[in-house]
Amino acid sequence: MSSHLTLGVLNGDDIGHEIVPATVEVIKAACARTGLNIDWRPLPIGRIALDSHGSTFPEGTIEALRGMDGFILGPIGHQAYPKVPGAINPHPILRKQFDLFANIRPTRSYPGLGALRDDIDLIIVRENNEGFQPDRNVVAGSGEFRPTEDVTVSVRVITRAGSARVARAALSLARQRRRKLTLVHKDTVFKLGCGMFVEECYNAAKDFPDVEVNEVIVDTMAMRLIREPQNFDVIVTTNMFGDILSDEAAGLVGGLGMAPGLCIGEGNIAMAQATHGSAPDIAGKDMANPFAMIESGRMLVDWLGHNRQIPEAIAASGLISNAITRMLADPAKRTKDIRGSAGTKAATV
Ligand code: ATP
Ligand code: MG
Repeated sequence: MSSHLTLGVLNGDDIGHEIVPATVEVIKAACARTGLNIDWRPLPIGRIALDSHGSTFPEGTIEALRGMDGFILGPIGHQAYPKVPGAINPHPILRKQFDLFANIRPTRSYPGLGALRDDIDLIIVRENNEGFQPDRNVVAGSGEFRPTEDVTVSVRVITRAGSARVARAALSLARQRRRKLTLVHKDTVFKLGCGMFVEECYNAAKDFPDVEVNEVIVDTMAMRLIREPQNFDVIVTTNMFGDILSDEAAGLVGGLGMAPGLCIGEGNIAMAQATHGSAPDIAGKDMANPFAMIESGRMLVDWLGHNRQIPEAIAASGLISNAITRMLADPAKRTKDIRGSAGTKAATV
């Protein structure tokens, strides 16, 4: 038991320089009240690091992260990096280094923000390291190749072990909630890949007899998410289906600024990462909605609190939740994308 945590702070790019510092401030304020001692370690990453260290993901940053309890990763705008040596996408390296295979993406409606309904409270658990975006351990290169100039083959990797572990993560979450798990797949077409995923999910579910498990084909899921999102509790799915469905789910409750995420593995480290990208169009304009990042940070503190049994962290998470609810309830304190009038800074004071 320790009430001392070391957390990395990686701003990322574009709006990351606004929403990550806002997140750290909110967590600091909560910790000051509960007595949780966090050692914050800012680390260079992204375009700023390219200028200062010659790499968008310097070796020193990777090294430093290894010794930490967790970290906050702001959005990375790697698509816009210049084509120079050192301009690399940190995501695959992070995935491989820490094996953060479960990406937990909650969607909740808060009153008055333009959500489709007021009773949405679901979590999409997205497998993070396989599928069409396979880990480089499994497939060399990007998982795509051209056997001839005119044909591209994209490899989708599904493994028994990878499916089983993400299923267990989702089942554990469901057990803490309404005990309903929906498997989303397309085994009607991908009989081997999705078939294996589904099989392993049911196998894992044998250890969770208290969780009700059902399955929905992904295209039907896209429709049902809009027509009856209130009927879903925890959804588990493969990498790309989860990527797409979680943006759709964010759209149900006010857009990408409302889409937090926490990446976990079987190890002791977790990464707070909002679902949205670096939004270069609104960067530097004090317009970004900090909710998704702040809530991701809160999820990290909460996860560490439960995992390490740190009451001060669990209490801090509760205080942050209250502060978020107050912020979202007041149009003068929330940002324009969710029917408010505040800038990023005013939303977080
Ligand atoms: P990625 O490929 O990294 O997922 P993307 O192309 O999906 O990126 P985002 O950067 O996620 O694009 O955002 C798309 C648009 O949504 C942005 O241009 C911005 O207008 C809006 N947006 C995203 N995040 C936020 C936020 N936190 N607050 C307000 N608007 C946002
Ligand atoms: Mg996106």
